[in-house]
Amino acid sequence: MELVTQALAANRYALARLISLVEDDGTQARAALAALYPHTGQAHVVGVTGAPGTGKSTLVNELAKSLRARGTTVGVVAVDPSSPFTGGALLGDRLRMRDLAGDPGVFIRSMASRGSLGGLARTTNDVVKVLDAAGFAVVLVETIGAGQAEVDIARTAHTTIVVEAPGLGDEVQALKAGLMEIADVLVVNKADRPGAAQTARALEMVMGRNAPAGEAGEPAWRPPILQTVALDGTGVAEVLQAVGAHREHLRASGLWARREQARVETELLNVLREELLGRLLARVDREQIQGWVERIAAREVDAYTAVRSIFLDADERG
Ligand code: GDP
Repeated sequence: MELVTQALAANRYALARLISLVEDDGTQARAALAALYPHTGQAHVVGVTGAPGTGKSTLVNELAKSLRARGTTVGVVAVDPSSPFTGGALLGDRLRMRDLAGDPGVFIRSMASRGSLGGLARTTNDVVKVLDAAGFAVVLVETIGAGQAEVDIARTAHTTIVVEAPGLGDEVQALKAGLMEIADVLVVNKADRPGAAQTARALEMVMGRNAPAGEAGEPAWRPPILQTVALDGTGVAEVLQAVGAHREHLRASGLWARREQARVETELLNVLREELLGRLLARVDREQIQGWVERIAAREVDAYTAVRSIFLDADERG
């Protein structure tokens, strides 16, 4: 496939086209992903997540600039499930582009939700694969840390940065969103604002309580708590240093391979689940499902019984 060959050579036009195909999720995309797959597995995938307004976009921009200054190529995937737009046309992208415009070592793509959030997690994963195969050394995946889908997206990263900021109401936002346990690096951004040190201390306390035990006797990774001012780049070098140290830790402890294994297993089961559901629904008509919904709501049957009947019917029809 010509498009795949060009994308592997990091041709920007081909990358954009290919990512659109992946977002549309057609059979063409599946074939392209299959061809790309042997070229993946090289990039360090770094998730950046946290509540809206903590400064994630600004921080991701600074991280990308800093990486570029060291000659490292960077892909950025910004996931915004609340946005109805997609295809890299978001205002945020244009703002980012100002700093990084014209640099062939950077590729930035925004993704919005089309359909289900679960679908978004899979699509994001596939877009990361495209950038990985195209040879970007680091792929930053920015998500709003709000719900389970976002946590799932963050979980597919090798290293997850959780961003906090003082003065957003709740003392520790990430605690509410269930992000603390997936944090490999904690960042208190807006350190120029009052209350940053207090937020950092609150995080210290929470992390202290949940001191990691270290899997199977491995030395444990203690997530560092760093302060940044993303607006002027203060502390960004330290964040990159921590990200690099985490990567080393994953490699040296063998966790990299184990995480990869777990990620692949989740991916396989998710694709299998979707495929099975798709195949079944293709053999059952919508009205029939609606009929079951009404009967379940009316307490005539329960969902388990309904599913058994749906399968029996579908099997009879072949
Ligand atoms: P996101 O919603 O988490 O992506 O946050 P943004 O990156 O859009 O930033 C939200 C607002 O905070 C913007 O107005 C930024 O200019 C501002 N901001 C980002 N980083 C800092 C910082 O370090 N200090 C201060 N004072 N403001 C910041």
